[in-house]
Amino acid sequence: MAGRVDLDGKPIKPITICMIGAGGFIGSHLCEKLMSETQHKVLAVDVYNDKIKHLLEPASLPWADRIQFHRLNIKNDSRLEGLIKMADLTVNLAAICTPADYNTRPLDTIYSNFIDALPVVKYCSENGKRLIHFSTCEVYGKTIGCFLPKDSPLRQDPAYYVLKEDASPCIFGPIEKQRWSYACAKQLIERLIYAEGAENGLEFTIVRPFNWIGPRMDFIPGIDGPSEGVPRVLACFSNNLLRREPLKLVDGGQSQRTFVYIKDAIEAVVLMIENPARANGHIFNVGNPNNEVTVRQLAEMMTQVYSKVSGEVSSETPTIDVSSKEFYGEGYDDSDKRIPDMTIINRQLGWNPKTSLWDLLECTLTYQHRTYAEAIKQSMSKPTAN
Ligand code: NAD
Ligand code: UDP
Repeated sequence: MAGRVDLDGKPIKPITICMIGAGGFIGSHLCEKLMSETQHKVLAVDVYNDKIKHLLEPASLPWADRIQFHRLNIKNDSRLEGLIKMADLTVNLAAICTPADYNTRPLDTIYSNFIDALPVVKYCSENGKRLIHFSTCEVYGKTIGCFLPKDSPLRQDPAYYVLKEDASPCIFGPIEKQRWSYACAKQLIERLIYAEGAENGLEFTIVRPFNWIGPRMDFIPGIDGPSEGVPRVLACFSNNLLRREPLKLVDGGQSQRTFVYIKDAIEAVVLMIENPARANGHIFNVGNPNNEVTVRQLAEMMTQVYSKVSGEVSSETPTIDVSSKEFYGEGYDDSDKRIPDMTIINRQLGWNPKTSLWDLLECTLTYQHRTYAEAIKQSMSKPTAN
């Protein structure tokens, strides 16, 4: 760890980071990396800490004096400004960010992604503190290409689907498609942060994650989350595989996604933290353009990988189709395709993702099997009420 240097060969000085949403999926991996590979201190803010418990206890851990957990809800806690003032940098991850909530809890979604982030931006700006804010690839919405006729050869032209931070438009559906409440709130907070930079000199970096996946993502319904809860696709499909149920393909599973391994993506975030001169003022796509699949292909690959890591033969009906109305309710809509342009992150930080989709699914499903298979077996063998 000694002698670590930044991308310009200058020694990296340890800093204090106020990490809001540190107890979530991305936060837990970022804390783990910062504790094991750097000398930075973390003030970890969240309402939950289950996913970072292994970093907080016991007190004999080598980094025990470099991480402090502060249980607080940023909606209504006056301690927030003090923590931001104590730190050199704030990383804001806090958000409602599961699609099942966007159309069913649109008010909570908009408050969480816009209103609750306002004080964080304000305190950073007023106190001259740097901010790394987590936005989303969903701010791009739909591709231009999806509005072309189905048989148009232009659909094959990357100009109509590759998503570029400084060139692509943000295309959302109508207001009654409440799916877009999240994307719209994230877009407005991006614009506000950008304006704070332009008018008041806020030093900021905005991250747009493109489907980061890996261990500890979301929850398995009925085990460490509500039975009726609907997490993101990795946890939905993991849950189906663990329970030996068919994987549910929403509207035929035709939407396309690029998936990046959480550990690759965290390396990009650490580069942003440690290279402020290269990261400030930028918006970065962080994803893996080489790992594109349709949701149907993802289901097929996860079924094959799970069979390999669990040693169990896959079930006879691996997938079933469900309508989005049945699965998510009224007001759902979807992003058709998400390929990140990598020019800016490559030029500024020299970052590239490494892990193939098969490999990242193998690591992740091995974790899911080890963590949940026994608990699922036990819960399924219990008699249900009536
Ligand atoms: P997550 O839900 O696992 O983590 C978010 C954390 O924020 C949770 O631990 C939650 O308890 C905390 N939080 C929410 N509201 C809070 C509040 N009011 N006060 C204190 N803590 C609060 O989600 P994640 O996947 O780790 O995502 C982190 C960020 O990255 C989010 O802003 C999300 O929109 C963005 N993002 C993630 C992905 C991805 O691929 N994982 C994709 C696009 C965007
Ligand atoms: N999806 C699906 N079955 C599920 C869960 C999700 O077909 O059990 C689809 C969903 O409709 C979307 C894609 O998988 O097209 C990715 O969903 P996710 O929840 O991960 O979030 P998104 O990428 O849309 O933000």
